[in-house]
Amino acid sequence: MLIDYHTHHVRCGHASGELEAYVKRGIEIGLTQLGLSDHMPLLHVDPQTYWPEMAMPMDELPRYVEECLHLKEKYKDQIDIRIGLEGDYIEGYEAEIEAIIKAYPWDYVIGSVHFLGEWDISDFRQLAGWEGKDIFEVYTQYYDAVQKAVRTGLYDYIGHIDVIKRFGYKPDRDPWELEKAALDTVKEHGLAIELNASGLRMLCEEMFPSRRMLEYCHKVGIPLTIGSDAHQPERLSQYLDQARDLLKLIGFNEIATFSARNRHLVTF
Ligand SMILES: [Zn+2]
Ligand SMILES: [Zn+2]
Repeated sequence: MLIDYHTHHVRCGHASGELEAYVKRGIEIGLTQLGLSDHMPLLHVDPQTYWPEMAMPMDELPRYVEECLHLKEKYKDQIDIRIGLEGDYIEGYEAEIEAIIKAYPWDYVIGSVHFLGEWDISDFRQLAGWEGKDIFEVYTQYYDAVQKAVRTGLYDYIGHIDVIKRFGYKPDRDPWELEKAALDTVKEHGLAIELNASGLRMLCEEMFPSRRMLEYCHKVGIPLTIGSDAHQPERLSQYLDQARDLLKLIGFNEIATFSARNRHLVTF
């Protein structure tokens, strides 16, 4: 069974392709399930004055969901579309995030930490944010936010859990204690995580998360789903063959899928 649960589209401002282009591509490459999971609109910064092209405007959100529902019905005989949201975790905005999550019929909500305060640590235009900072301290803040995201109970799984490594900034100390603590919190709260293959085309040159973290997930029983984080239709499912091979090599026999906020494990 081929699935891809992490995709974006033109509404967010930094991706290309309409939703339907991803659906058609998904059918072309034989996906069984396609998860549409665009970025949540910005809540904690003013979209007018913040960096442009970060996420869809708030008034697009209902149209996004409507279009997903329409496509789900239109293509139901060819592909199983799951409707998702990559929901940022922003400390102090839990009520606003919850309101968005409750307002729509999501199949799943990804909990992703991109922001530490107003700094988007995953935005290549904001690399100046690292200047003068202790890298281990940034990692500590990042993983602290991941744990807080898990504890909100708002999310089905954590997206790209070690994305802090994205641009290749490496702390002088091994961050394993931070990574392990985050995974232990995921396990304790019954969440899953994703294997996000997009890291292979970034400066860190490895998937999110690392093999070490995946092996720990297998050991303690944290379910994995997979996603390409495609921002162009032609990148849909890019590297997911490698992702599946890696999971099988580590010993996973099942991956997680989501429907109406319920998790189902399937063989792959
Ligand atoms: Zn994006
Ligand atoms: Zn993300």
